[in-house]
Amino acid sequence: MPSSWMPISRMPTNRMPIRTESADDTKAVAAALAPLLRSGDVLLLSGDLGAGKTAFVQGLAAAFGITAQVTSPTFMLAATYDGGRMRLHHLDAYRLENLREVLDLDLPELLGDDAVVCIEWGEVVRSELRSDFLEIHFHFGDQPDSRTINLDFVGSSWQQRSVAVTEALATVSV
Ligand code: ADP
Ligand code: MG
Repeated sequence: MPSSWMPISRMPTNRMPIRTESADDTKAVAAALAPLLRSGDVLLLSGDLGAGKTAFVQGLAAAFGITAQVTSPTFMLAATYDGGRMRLHHLDAYRLENLREVLDLDLPELLGDDAVVCIEWGEVVRSELRSDFLEIHFHFGDQPDSRTINLDFVGSSWQQRSVAVTEALATVSV
């Protein structure tokens, strides 16, 4: 899609999708992103069930040094992990009821916290977000364990980091 179609705050998806061949590869992609993350960052994770969103968050948590096991928060709405380099909030908006509860109860507070916030199925909460977030799209590949990952850099803080992020993640793309 030509970049002239994009709102000014939205950079085009990175041109070379990141490819992974295993859940561990996807975790390694998250680990490569981790050093570039700052407190207050929001990651929107989109993609079908089983595409690897939770695997990515698991890789991120491990890279932060969080030792707790990250599981899907589908039935928990939101989980908070402390003990790592940064606090991590993990939300899953898969079920619409969850989404409404998350919006009512938690989202503004979680977004204002001194933490990194990962939101699975995040596209449905996009309108609730501030202008800066990294949108990470997970797609199934041509093999059972292959996935492609595309990034959208939304807002100035992500645009400024887009080259660094793309380069860091390309080093672990298989
Ligand atoms: P989601 O949160 O998107 O629904 P999960 O991360 O919970 O997906 O599940 C992904 C599943 O796919 C896991 O069972 C994981 O082991 C498997 N898998 C296989 N290949 C990959 C890959 N390349 N990246 C991520 N997960 C993969
Ligand atoms: Mg999940």
